[in-house]
Amino acid sequence: MGQSRLQGKTVLITAAAQGIGRASALACADEGARVIATDINQMFLDSLAAESSSIEVKLLDVRSDAAVAALAAHTPALDVLFNCAGMVANGNLLDGSEADWDLSFELNVKSMFRMTRAFLPAMLAKVETQGGSVSVINMASMASSIKGFANRCAYGTTKAAVIGLTKSLAADYVKAGLRANALCPGTVDTPSLRGRIASAADPVQAEKDFVARQPMGRLASVDDITPMVVFLASDESRFVTGQTLLVDGGVTI
Ligand code: NAD
Repeated sequence: MGQSRLQGKTVLITAAAQGIGRASALACADEGARVIATDINQMFLDSLAAESSSIEVKLLDVRSDAAVAALAAHTPALDVLFNCAGMVANGNLLDGSEADWDLSFELNVKSMFRMTRAFLPAMLAKVETQGGSVSVINMASMASSIKGFANRCAYGTTKAAVIGLTKSLAADYVKAGLRANALCPGTVDTPSLRGRIASAADPVQAEKDFVARQPMGRLASVDDITPMVVFLASDESRFVTGQTLLVDGGVTI
């Protein structure tokens, strides 16, 4: 059992059925939060709900204006919005497809714009009436928005945009009690990473290459990332806003 660092807080997480989102949902619930875990994968959501009575699951495609608006209309004001959904597209400027570029912007950036516009008014109203502060956590990445990596043109561009969006939110709403921060993990062992390794021409070499770029000599686990999520969600980070927080195992030393 955790230490109730998020007692009384309502936390909504996108892409929470697996990977970092799922681990974050469990970590926030363990710290006493009421968690609304959303994703497009009902089966994995159901298995998540079975793990904690503090986690309520909702099917949500963050690319749908209507679905996001409907959920916002039926959800009490949040204390924390964790925009975690995002995808990795392979490719450089010339060989990456335009379809991947558009989809990356839609899922990695526009979804955060859409989610935040839908949930922010009630969050700000809550601060105005009840005091305190609310927190938006946006999932960026160490690669390639902070440090350049090959074959991540669309990905790195979108994650850099996430950082810009986060700083703009932080600047615009700092006096209204909103904190907004971008989380930048190194390479994390998640189902999507396993998929990228499996689809490489030489999966064994691909895994070695991912590990080789981590100075600590290993990939991150999701549990290496969730303490930063809990910190940013909690009042412990009350003086932290507009930041890009790297949890990268030393890649950017
Ligand atoms: P993952 O790819 O393992 O899981 C992604 C989840 O997103 C799945 O549950 C999937 O159903 C859901 N999803 C896909 N499309 C969706 C949509 N339209 N609406 C809602 N949910 C949708 O996750 P991960 O590897 O933990 O990545 C999560 C986030 O972390 C992404 O934004 C990713 O860019 C970022 N990130 C990952 C790593 C890494 O190495 N894994 C590193 C840095 C940043």
